[in-house]
Amino acid sequence: MGSGTPYFIPLEEAIEITLKRRLSPDSEVISIDEAFHRILSESLSARTNDPPFDNSAMDGFAVNYIESKNPPNKFKISNTITAGNKFDNSIVSGEAARIMTGAPIPEGADSIIPIEACEVDEENETVTLNHESKPHFIRKKGENFTENEILLKTGTLLTPEKTSLCAAMGHNKIKVFKPLKVAIISTGDELRLPGEVLQKGEIYESNTFGLSGLVKWLGHEPVRFSSVVDNLDKLRETLDAAATKCDLIITSGGVSMGDRDFVRKIMEDEGEIDFWRIKVRPGSPPLFGAWNDTPIFGLPGNPVSSHVVFRVLVAPYLRASTSGGGLEEKRVRVQLAEPFKTSPTDLILRRIVIDTSGENLLAYSTGYQGSGNLNSLVLADGLTLLEPGHSGEKDTWCDALLL
Ligand code: AMP
Ligand code: MG
Repeated sequence: MGSGTPYFIPLEEAIEITLKRRLSPDSEVISIDEAFHRILSESLSARTNDPPFDNSAMDGFAVNYIESKNPPNKFKISNTITAGNKFDNSIVSGEAARIMTGAPIPEGADSIIPIEACEVDEENETVTLNHESKPHFIRKKGENFTENEILLKTGTLLTPEKTSLCAAMGHNKIKVFKPLKVAIISTGDELRLPGEVLQKGEIYESNTFGLSGLVKWLGHEPVRFSSVVDNLDKLRETLDAAATKCDLIITSGGVSMGDRDFVRKIMEDEGEIDFWRIKVRPGSPPLFGAWNDTPIFGLPGNPVSSHVVFRVLVAPYLRASTSGGGLEEKRVRVQLAEPFKTSPTDLILRRIVIDTSGENLLAYSTGYQGSGNLNSLVLADGLTLLEPGHSGEKDTWCDALLL
């Protein structure tokens, strides 16, 4: 690492530096069947009005509103109009058309009376309305959206409801970003796969599973590598393979100051480091740079740290690579319901439960905040963004990132 390499820098500065190595994934056209959880690489406009024609919101009768005033009123039943009816239907004065939900409104009608408010005679020839009819029971052409209206922008992650909207707009093929392949590599002699029997001094490797989930959540493809022992040759081999196979590399562990922090060591000697360490707690040790021209995030090994640093550092990078796409970052303003430990220099990311029952959103600590305590993260609704110098006193306010 050169003497000019940025060291121990604020988070915003670190994000800016990562963006210089922003990725530009290609696009591909997919069927709407495959669209869920993909990220749009072009804006989508409607191919139709929604609804495409005035139609009934109720099963009932379509009538002329003025004629239905001052009930009870008797009408001659003209015909029956079902959803999907393709004819040009009309009624004249004194007539009512039996109509189903979603069926087109006949000419001459401008309101609907639901079936519950009607009495039909035994011959099925006349209907008596017990109430006046309601114009707002007609769903008007284009009331939801109009043809050519842009409804979904580039970078939109297609949630279930947005996938339905694509279909309602008339799209069967959708242009999306190709997922980035993200290598996820854990390091450490002490790591064993869950399910194996732990020997003395060993722990279960947990980081790569959560990090893979975060990558998928952002709409990309994790490639989980087997954990690498603390050995420079093994690490080099794995990083080389990852750089060949993947667009981005994420490692966990081995980036602190220790003699056996081999990710930092190998990056110093053989890689490119753009910065090392950021002013956040937990999770200050990360580094960023490139290995064989492939961007690499070296995340800390502590399980909570690797996760929160992904949320605040890697997620903005991945979102920027897909025009803002992927897991949205939602921030809220919370009031501290208890005092929190803060720092004059670091952004403090405490795991909090947010009580939404009162007028203000209240933030409580999830309990013991050790950076190895995954449960403190599991219990959390959000992370505080306590700025450097914040007093952390009870009743003061800060931003929080929703998890
Ligand atoms: P390191 O950054 O390698 O010094 O690791 C910091 C702490 O996190 C150590 O206690 C490691 O045992 C632990 N750790 C590192 N990697 C993982 C992992 N993949 N899963 C669970 N714990 C880990
Ligand atoms: Mg280690």
